[in-house]
Amino acid sequence: MSEFREIRNVLAVRAVGPDIAAIEIERHDLAFTPGDCMALYADDGRVSRPYSIASGTADPILRFIVRRMPGGDVSPFLCSRQPGDEVRVSPPFGWFRPGANAAQRPFVFLATGTGVAPFFAYLRSPGARRPALFRYGCRAAADLVEPDWLRAHGGAVCYVSRERAPGCAHGRITDGMDDLPLGDYDYYLCGLDAMIDEATRYLQSRGIPITAIHRECFFNASAAG
Ligand SMILES: Cc1cc2nc3c(=O)[nH]c(=O)nc-3n(C[C@H](O)[C@H](O)[C@H](O)COP(=O)(O)OP(=O)(O)OC[C@H]3O[C@@H](n4cnc5c(N)ncnc54)[C@H](O)[C@@H]3O)c2cc1C
Repeated sequence: MSEFREIRNVLAVRAVGPDIAAIEIERHDLAFTPGDCMALYADDGRVSRPYSIASGTADPILRFIVRRMPGGDVSPFLCSRQPGDEVRVSPPFGWFRPGANAAQRPFVFLATGTGVAPFFAYLRSPGARRPALFRYGCRAAADLVEPDWLRAHGGAVCYVSRERAPGCAHGRITDGMDDLPLGDYDYYLCGLDAMIDEATRYLQSRGIPITAIHRECFFNASAAG
């Protein structure tokens, strides 16, 4: 795989909350599709993890939203980068395509945590349409990435589960799903596996075919202990 690695400069790093950073790196002329990931490498240039691109296709930079996992091989390294540092990256890849069928039918976004990244990529790209419903949940208000932008451009309803936060619903995005639009919609689910499993079960129990439920799992709750 080494021949596929490129070195890019870090342009900016912004702390979103105590454990989340938005990291911008050089794009050059790299083409990608909203929903694509790139493998980002640790310092040794050998261990990599996939991270979803969180910038739009017309943005001049590549942006990633990274949660620092204590003891992790890659995410602590990425979150400690400074402008001017280098990171090794793979070419973009992926199969999760939020909003891909937007011209044919409406769609719903459900995101937890950094799982909001591919929805940023879609909403920031030319021609993006507004989801029929967009729920975005985090444990703490400080973890929400640009909630005002997401409300304005995607109609996001933000949920915070472990505290009460102004302007946010209190609870998980899977609490009370009765107001989810049902029918000929596409559903895009991204983030923690527990949310994805619960939302999938709910949608299937309401007759939504699995072919309309598009899923990208970032984290396995069982690994969180
Ligand atoms: C398709 C895809 C796209 C992804 N996109 C993103 C993204 O945009 N942003 C992002 O932040 N991450 C994303 N991830 C997750 C990312 O790839 C890594 O898995 C994550 O950053 C941890 O890597 P690490 O090397 O730091 O930790 P590792 O070395 O893999 O693990 C470190 C420790 O953390 C534990 N751990 C694993 N998951 C959890 C958890 N949920 N809570 C607590 N501890 C845990 C592990 O068991 C281990 O003990 C994505 C994953 C996939 C599959």
